[in-house]
Amino acid sequence: MKNGVIVDLQHIFFSYGDVPVLEDVSIKLKQNDFLSIIGPNGGGKTTILKIILGLIEPDKGSVFVFGNSPKAARKFIGYLPQLFTFDYDFPVSIMDVVLMGRLGKRGLGRSYTKEDYQICLEALGEVGMEYLKDTQIGDLSGGQRQRVFIARALATNPKLLLLDEPVASVDTRWQQTFYELLQELNKEIAIIMVTHDISVVSTYIDKIACLNRRLYYHGSKKEGMHKISEMYEYPVQLITHDTPHSSSGERTND
Ligand code: ADP
Repeated sequence: MKNGVIVDLQHIFFSYGDVPVLEDVSIKLKQNDFLSIIGPNGGGKTTILKIILGLIEPDKGSVFVFGNSPKAARKFIGYLPQLFTFDYDFPVSIMDVVLMGRLGKRGLGRSYTKEDYQICLEALGEVGMEYLKDTQIGDLSGGQRQRVFIARALATNPKLLLLDEPVASVDTRWQQTFYELLQELNKEIAIIMVTHDISVVSTYIDKIACLNRRLYYHGSKKEGMHKISEMYEYPVQLITHDTPHSSSGERTND
């Protein structure tokens, strides 16, 4: 890895069929970076995460993750997908959900070891949820679910954490705690957080990439604020406080 660069996307082009989704996108992430990829819905943010995870390959351009191919690097990545895609009626305990994070290490069909349980307990401890390990996932609030899924991502012992719209479904009170938790994790782990809602870009985030098919800006948050307005094509105020409001109108339950 050159100069501590752990994710290196260079001149990425990607289309679904003949619909261009990404055009000439280059993004670099260094160790200990906390990067937010910001842009409107449909702007290609999740597609970027899938490329970093090696789930899809770009049509053009190069991708290196930890100096390797994304597929080879996947074992170092913890992924928090959008929360509302999970079936909460499914009767599983919190421990079961976190253990799913160990599947990639163990392989399907193998039973979990004592070590797996221990790692998962520690991951639950990191997010303050150890005491609820036997509770059903469906019985939790939005903020608690969020913590469980972070614990699941941490159970892979990742060096890089990818978060897809992590605060869309949780209450503003939890967002503050959530960012404090991420800041703590960021001491050890690089983080990429994808969001369409610029009001959730907290002061803890130091770098941004503004993406709407093409990259409008990639660099420090402070210097890039005016670029966000350009991308959204109307003036926006980037609210960089620590108690963000929810302007997305999405479900909030904590
Ligand atoms: P974002 O995460 O910024 O909302 P996405 O990366 O999910 O954007 O999607 C970018 C574009 O690609 C959107 O126009 C979306 O409709 C389209 N798209 C996403 N996934 C698929 C797919 N599997 N097949 C076809 N089009 C897709």
